[in-house]
Amino acid sequence: MIRDWELEMTDAKDGRAVRKRRDANERSLVADERALRRRAKIIHEKLLATYGEPQWTRRDGVSELVATILSQNTNDSNRDLAYARLRARFPTWAAVRDAPVEAVVEAIRPAGLANQKGPRIQLALRHITEAHGKLDIDFLAQMPVDEARRWLLGIKGVGPKTAAIVLLFCYDKPVFPVDTHVHRVTGRLGLRPPKLTAEQTHEWMERICPPGGQFAFHINLIRHGRAVCHARNPACTRCPLRRRCDYFRRRIQTRGSA
Ligand code: SF4
Repeated sequence: MIRDWELEMTDAKDGRAVRKRRDANERSLVADERALRRRAKIIHEKLLATYGEPQWTRRDGVSELVATILSQNTNDSNRDLAYARLRARFPTWAAVRDAPVEAVVEAIRPAGLANQKGPRIQLALRHITEAHGKLDIDFLAQMPVDEARRWLLGIKGVGPKTAAIVLLFCYDKPVFPVDTHVHRVTGRLGLRPPKLTAEQTHEWMERICPPGGQFAFHINLIRHGRAVCHARNPACTRCPLRRRCDYFRRRIQTRGSA
């Protein structure tokens, strides 16, 4: 068992695991992370009480990957319309892969950036076919999470958020997708160090999220970001999280000292 004040480290010479005493800074980081885990659990539970357990119709991995590429820089209804048009015009993903790019671009136009997303989707479908022999990525379910993530990130145009969505939504992997809402709301709530980028926040949230809560916490943070914690003018006075929120506390203090 590793105690809080110890770090498990690998001896560079012979690969043996050795323990070293944490210095004061490392101990304080561990304490911070434990406090943040507790805070994450409380906030997760409050969001569940507010928005409930989110429901989701699971897609297969390839379909989720295509839908997630379509969702980049657009809203859900535009993504859904583009996805429905794509499915209506092409009977299979193989047909999308082999179609003239202009036909795919035309089908997905409602999602915006169609000239980028069309070729990106076809590239991803070709990549899967070449790497795996067929248009199916269910083998990711059997892979350790880091290996599965690396495999997805090897597809051109697939970034950490898209990879995390596919792994979480389709294969229940314990990852945490971070979009603009999750990044903003976790920052205001003080769930992450303020300077972490969205990309770095993926790994951070994976560490502090209550086990098994990744899907509901991710979806409910997005709901909260859309409904209450808007980018401009967050509706703090009707926010159920305000007693736990760093941003709200700072706002009150600034007003109090003005
Ligand atoms: S109190 Fe305000 S800033 Fe904090 S989470 Fe709620 S809406 Fe967002």
